[in-house]
Amino acid sequence: MENKIRLEVVTPHGVVLSEDVDEITATGSEGEFGVLAGHANLITTLKIGSMQVRSGSKTDYLFVNTGYAEVSPDKVIVLADSAEKVEDIDIERAMEAKKRAEERLRQQENIDFARANAALQRATTRISLVSKKV
Ligand code: ATP
Repeated sequence: MENKIRLEVVTPHGVVLSEDVDEITATGSEGEFGVLAGHANLITTLKIGSMQVRSGSKTDYLFVNTGYAEVSPDKVIVLADSAEKVEDIDIERAMEAKKRAEERLRQQENIDFARANAALQRATTRISLVSKKV
């Protein structure tokens, strides 16, 4: 297990991933960051984006909603509002969510723009992850 790092991705909906991996790349509020075993302690917020998880020659891609990551030398805990592995993303559902958010944003009044924008961003990020076929 030398040089491996434990990764736990947890959401209010359940544990999405719990694995010993080689390398993690996530989308922090300040930009993408990478973690290998031995990384210094760090706590950072996450924004809507993707996460790459490499184990040997295999790389998994995940959608990760807002949340935070706690990094220590042998463990990374990601607590996010929602997250899915790319293969679990329902593209039809994401397209519907995108349509709903765009329709809301077209209305000029009585809408919560921040909320509609966040919904749009979640949907477009899910769609682009799936369409990259990663
Ligand atoms: P929707 O409006 O379709 O619910 P959302 O972006 O508001 O989308 P979230 O709040 O991010 O949804 O997630 C709620 C739950 O639904 C989580 O468990 C999340 O993993 C799951 N989920 C949301 N959209 C998808 C999708 N397109 N494919 C698979 N799971 C999804």
